[in-house]
Amino acid sequence: MAEQLRFDDQVVVVTGAGGGLGKAYATFFGSRGAKVVVNDLGGSFKGEGNSTKAADVVVDEIKKAGGQAVANYDSVENGEKIIETAIKAFGRIDVLINNAGILRDISFKNMKDEDWDLIMKVHVKGAYKCARAAWPYFRKQKYGRVINTASAAGLFGSFGQCNYSAAKLAQVGFTETLAKEGAKYNIISNVIAPIAASRMTETVMPPDVLQNLRPEWVVPLVAVLVHKSNTTENGGIFEVGGGHVAKLRWERSSGLLLKADDSYTPSAILKQWNKVTDFSKPQYPSGPADFMTLLEESMQMGP
Ligand code: NAD
Repeated sequence: MAEQLRFDDQVVVVTGAGGGLGKAYATFFGSRGAKVVVNDLGGSFKGEGNSTKAADVVVDEIKKAGGQAVANYDSVENGEKIIETAIKAFGRIDVLINNAGILRDISFKNMKDEDWDLIMKVHVKGAYKCARAAWPYFRKQKYGRVINTASAAGLFGSFGQCNYSAAKLAQVGFTETLAKEGAKYNIISNVIAPIAASRMTETVMPPDVLQNLRPEWVVPLVAVLVHKSNTTENGGIFEVGGGHVAKLRWERSSGLLLKADDSYTPSAILKQWNKVTDFSKPQYPSGPADFMTLLEESMQMGP
């Protein structure tokens, strides 16, 4: 039997850990030896109100099971206070799981600035503020593990969720850059697009589907990615839920390369549009440098 992944003496911060996926992460890490900061603002899924109860219930559960945990009730927009709770209670931080989130579903036609701004504040600014506050500790100790939470809505778009989609794809760009900047300090960052039954999904999915999407089934992948044994999987994008785990990547068509002179017109592109969209010889770019190689080729093309 494979050895159980343990997190003894590590400090794990889980944002939005009062319910759904966050609770599943927090109780798991609490049961595997970690000291857990259970953050939750305790509001509604639309981001209204606040309460200490959500976080307290999970802290009690972890403690009753013999684990160690403290509650934090700040909004992720004040990430520095959440990380401060970890440092005050346990003296360090090893793992940050940016999970807190809300929805403000509304068609683009009817979207108001407040629907847009609140989603950006919680998802984008929230993930930034928590990671920013943890970063100096990660760098100093040359160890850190980050999970950011995207969504299929961000990767593919979703009717009525353009605010949420934009905020969720932002997690991908954010993670890719953290992965690049953190690598030499052994700070590993990955991003997941989970699917799980929670108050967020229970109104949009039928009960029989929800039964097969337990939040606990997202946890094992997250555990693998944030474990100290993971030193190579950095900047990965994963889809996870219902027992399925898969990695995603960008695919680029082999494309059309034209000489950039006066002949480079809209008609010239149209004439060979099939090359622009031909995925028969795909490329898998992973950084801006990959594009620069193409650009150099184009510049070297003779008259
Ligand atoms: P959930 O509503 O059960 O959990 C989110 C938690 O975040 C709640 O407990 C909420 O109180 C907390 N929270 C909200 N705003 C906060 C803030 N400003 N500060 C601190 N805590 C805050 O939903 P969930 O399904 O468990 O979602 C968890 C994460 O996964 C979210 O980021 C969500 O967007 C993402 N996600 C979920 C699914 C899914 O299928 N459930 C799919 C894609 C992405």
